[in-house]
Amino acid sequence: MRTSRTLITLLVALALIAAPVAASTLGGDRARPERRVANVIAGSASLPVAAPGEVSATTPSRAAPAPLSALSPPLFTAPWATLVPPPLVSQRLDPVLARRNAARAALRRALAAARRDDAAVLVDKRRALPARYVPRDLVVPRVTFLAGVPEEGRMLRRRPARALERLFAAARRDKVPLAAVSGFRSYGSQQALFSGYASERGTENASHVSARAGHSEHQTGLAVDVSGANGRCAAESCFAGTRPARWLAAHVARYGFVVRYPRGREQTTGYEYEPWHLRYVGPALAATATRTDRTLDELLRRR
Ligand SMILES: [Zn+2]
Repeated sequence: MRTSRTLITLLVALALIAAPVAASTLGGDRARPERRVANVIAGSASLPVAAPGEVSATTPSRAAPAPLSALSPPLFTAPWATLVPPPLVSQRLDPVLARRNAARAALRRALAAARRDDAAVLVDKRRALPARYVPRDLVVPRVTFLAGVPEEGRMLRRRPARALERLFAAARRDKVPLAAVSGFRSYGSQQALFSGYASERGTENASHVSARAGHSEHQTGLAVDVSGANGRCAAESCFAGTRPARWLAAHVARYGFVVRYPRGREQTTGYEYEPWHLRYVGPALAATATRTDRTLDELLRRR
């Protein structure tokens, strides 16, 4: 009895194993391979078993299929690594090309830094600020002002204000005491100033020395006029060549300023030489302007 029960159990097991093999051999279950593939993709079944008569190198396993990320190094990374071309010999050996590329990269970094400081703005004779534009972070820097500078003209945006404090401190250490002459100027104040110049010397002549309302850098809160502490030649052409003017030309870039309207660049800037008018652009862009001898117009136009 026990023997016959064991025999029956064996026969049933053999029948269960033989059935799919027979169906597969006869091609009777066309849906089966598809179902197997679908199960493998879904990660719920083992890898497909080779059909009878085929030799498979794959050992059937009940483990879930490996994720694609695990497959990617041998499948993708290695071929790509071998396909990346080495730098061209001309790029590696040509010092002029290498210097030019390095200069471009430095300029890109400097412009990005100026943008982060919100100091990459270009205001000139063609580009104007809206009449109602007033910077939100105006503060009064802790520096010496010439007597009579109104409250509005003492203000600068926060970042240039802090930079100006450091600049004045450095000048004091070098025994070149400075004074601030004019900082922020609203649209209305600029309008009044330009009208004054225009009635004095005519509109055309006034436009060489003063900006029309909306076109002044002073409205940005990033520009400041500086003189020596005695106020001699403040914001006048005779300031050129004085000791404070020379000191400013040599040191302002370190504190993030440029002399915005340099000598001999009237064609580019639209203004006569103003050794007193400093414009904050941040240390990186100021260094680039100094190193490349380019005005802010040349650095910021078409960018
Ligand atoms: Zn100015």
